[in-house]
Amino acid sequence: MQTWKEYQEKNKERFLNEMIDLLRIPSVSAKSEHKEDMQRCADAVAKSLRDAGCDKAEVMATAGHPVVYGEKIIDPSKPTVLVYGHYDVQPAEPLELWHSGPFDPVIKDGKVFARGSADDKGQFYMHVKALEVMSQTNSLTTNIKFLIEGEEEVGSPNLGKFVADHKDLLKADVILISDSSMLSMENPSLDTGVRGLSYIQVEVTGANRDLHSGTYGGAVANPITILAKMIASCHDENNHITIPGFYDDVVVATPEERDLLNKAPYDEQEYKDELGVKELWGENGYTTYERTGIRPTLEVNGIWGGYTGEGAKTVLPSKAYAKISARLVPNQSSDKITEKLLNYFKSIAPPSVEVKAELHHGGEPYMTPIDSKGYQAAAKAVEATFGKAPIPVRGGGSIPICSILEKELGIKIIFMGFGLDNDNLHSPNEKYNIENYYKGIETIPYFHKFFAE
Ligand SMILES: [Zn+2]
Repeated sequence: MQTWKEYQEKNKERFLNEMIDLLRIPSVSAKSEHKEDMQRCADAVAKSLRDAGCDKAEVMATAGHPVVYGEKIIDPSKPTVLVYGHYDVQPAEPLELWHSGPFDPVIKDGKVFARGSADDKGQFYMHVKALEVMSQTNSLTTNIKFLIEGEEEVGSPNLGKFVADHKDLLKADVILISDSSMLSMENPSLDTGVRGLSYIQVEVTGANRDLHSGTYGGAVANPITILAKMIASCHDENNHITIPGFYDDVVVATPEERDLLNKAPYDEQEYKDELGVKELWGENGYTTYERTGIRPTLEVNGIWGGYTGEGAKTVLPSKAYAKISARLVPNQSSDKITEKLLNYFKSIAPPSVEVKAELHHGGEPYMTPIDSKGYQAAAKAVEATFGKAPIPVRGGGSIPICSILEKELGIKIIFMGFGLDNDNLHSPNEKYNIENYYKGIETIPYFHKFFAE
């Protein structure tokens, strides 16, 4: 019988090519023009699960894009691992910033460049191939279920209902997700949580139409100026967020937690150089890892209004808009923070303008305990293949479905991401290092082995 490593070594070219084939399907969930691509991608994922050894795999309808479910049950008395991932991707725009087509994968310097390579096709596909490795070498120690959704990048609007409707089907002992990054290949890490999200849009209206800035400027409020002032008022001189009650429910990290977090290797100069900034910015009194992990933040994602075309137009615009989001930490509640944000923008609006503020979407923060059996299995698995115990870190991103999965299924989530922070997720030239892809396929079987012990 071949070992995992031998089987993987013999099939690694094919493992890579199969993943690349999946990247060729433009499964952009946000755009209705890709509805057929979404179905095609779901079908391809279901087929890959059957080919890898699932007893059954099917594409299941939701009110939105379909969910792919697959399972390999070896023995109902053995523990069951539920793998969650998503086959949808972010829109690729702006296309002119890509060095190669977002859906024409290119291999360069040991990296696969394509939309979805790291987020999340390349990462969930490691689990599909790990299943093949374990099936083909007769070394499965757990039952495996797959829940691969098609709406993660648009806030998973239909997955909560799907999970609630299929609790029995999805019954498992732990949820395993590879949809995040590690510090580096030299310093492997495991995320112990994800941040929550509150996302709103603000619309400021001044006069009932665009006006001549010479005739009316100075006498009528400019909604862009007002909106800019309102946004500027959200942070004080220490870069603390000023929205009343924003920090009320934030769990203060213990000195031990902060110590552990700051043990992760960090080179500030390198960090700045890589981003092309001279100085970092953030809440006073916290380090970079603390700012992106244990502290909530508020960002303006976009702002627009008035004339933005070529040349000059002297106009006093009628409207200004902004998209604003907050990343949340335990125990902040997305609903509560959204309400505070909406109220804040309405309450500080001067009488010279009208302000409309509404919710886009949100999600709760999620933490996983590091003394759980699942986390311990993941840590041992990483150590087995990287030769180094992983550093526990707090993820800065959000996977809004996490708190819903735990609530509906009553089990913990383990984050075992193999991406890197510079994978350009959601940006042009997204990539996934081939070495990380292979390392993931090598590590995942150990998780199942240790979890079953
Ligand atoms: Zn993702």
